[in-house]
Amino acid sequence: MKAFLIVDMQNDFMPGGPLAVPGGDKIIFLINSLTSRFSLVIASQDWHPEDHMSFACVHPGKKVAEVVKIQGEDQILWPVHCVQNSEGAKIVSGIDPSKIDKVILKGSDRWIDGYSAFFDHQRRKSTGLADYLTEKKVDTLYLAGVATDYCIFYSALDALDLGFNVFVIQDACRGLDLKKGDGKRALQLLKEKGAHLITSDEIPN
Ligand SMILES: [Zn+2]
Repeated sequence: MKAFLIVDMQNDFMPGGPLAVPGGDKIIFLINSLTSRFSLVIASQDWHPEDHMSFACVHPGKKVAEVVKIQGEDQILWPVHCVQNSEGAKIVSGIDPSKIDKVILKGSDRWIDGYSAFFDHQRRKSTGLADYLTEKKVDTLYLAGVATDYCIFYSALDALDLGFNVFVIQDACRGLDLKKGDGKRALQLLKEKGAHLITSDEIPN
């Protein structure tokens, strides 16, 4: 059984939003059209409390993109984004909500960030996605969305680690590229770890 995981296609990650992924809006139509090729579609949503510790503004004197230690872990500081129940946290309107079977929320604990749709950074908390996929007898996961170098990357790594067959649909992903080429490097690393890099035309109808 295969499933389609749409990662973080939320307003705040689109051009014009506070944490815009370049070209994020260019993949909305494609992702929406791909939903019809899967019988199970899951969407992850970054879902932060308003004082989440990944926000630069909660650390006096620190700026966006600086790295701080939180509970012993490196944490990149981000602009305020995807605050729970805000307009910015909503899934983009171009993706038909009736095609989404299950929404997975992540990053909802103030003290722990989580890029992966499966676990927080320290794997102390699970989002429930792995259990859900197991219950649905899913063994193969196709990923698309944003950002290739963060939430797609860590979601795919966890999926590989959990034993899923992982396909990353390259033309349906966009990277943040804080450093030029981050998105491409993330894909290359995933390939080395065993993920299949494909394009959308390789997905059977
Ligand atoms: Zn976030």
